[in-house]
Amino acid sequence: MKPIPKKRTFIWLLVLTCLILCFFIFLLWYVPLVGLESIHPSFPFVYSLLLAIFVFLMVFGGLLLVFTILRGKDILFSQRLRGIVAKILFPFMILMGRLVGVSKEKVQQSFVELNNHLVRSNQHRTRPNRLLLLLPHCIQDFDCQIKITGNVKNCKGCGKCEIKDLIELADHYQVKIAVATGGTLARRIIVENKPEAIVAVACELDLTSGIQDTYPIPVIGILNDRPFGPCINTRADIQLVKAALLDFLEPKPYRDI
Ligand code: SF4
Repeated sequence: MKPIPKKRTFIWLLVLTCLILCFFIFLLWYVPLVGLESIHPSFPFVYSLLLAIFVFLMVFGGLLLVFTILRGKDILFSQRLRGIVAKILFPFMILMGRLVGVSKEKVQQSFVELNNHLVRSNQHRTRPNRLLLLLPHCIQDFDCQIKITGNVKNCKGCGKCEIKDLIELADHYQVKIAVATGGTLARRIIVENKPEAIVAVACELDLTSGIQDTYPIPVIGILNDRPFGPCINTRADIQLVKAALLDFLEPKPYRDI
């Protein structure tokens, strides 16, 4: 069954992290205060001010993130928030998840969902030829002998796997499409194509590292289905892929097609 990612897992872990950080900041503020005064009378004030600014920025960033998600629209700095979530908060959330018994996979799914929400909030738009649909190799039928990693259009369209439907979808919206066997090839495809936005289908592990690596390029990640286990004959929800492509394309005339 397709996993249902929940961005609220990430938010709860974030709130928990903020509370723990506040406690440690209190200790950091309280313990050295007496000693600092003996060095110079103004040191406790300067020290308290710096910590207060840090707490303010942390709480402000957290609230901004929550309200951006609740509102579904950019309030302020959603592009920056996406970077902070991907580069700084995510590793902490994995650690925090481990402490409170939330699996790494669940935190990754939640991160992808949260990232998608922030990308959609920012309402990035791009031309079709600057939009890349990036697929994992495991979507191809395991028994298919045709090499599609170099050129996905080598597919004969037999319909045994969803590569056929995905090529038709990409052709319909005139967006670029590519298949990658792993992170290294995916990075090469991105460097060669220079997309302004990416719709990527993959497992939570590859989506997470891909979203982190490609920042600031906006990526909407679609988790693949794995009815036969990981990395073999996986599937993509075509309607979700289509919706993600349309999120990046100009509302007209492409939405009318
Ligand atoms: S649809 Fe294309 S990639 Fe999939 S099995 Fe048929 S020829 Fe191979």
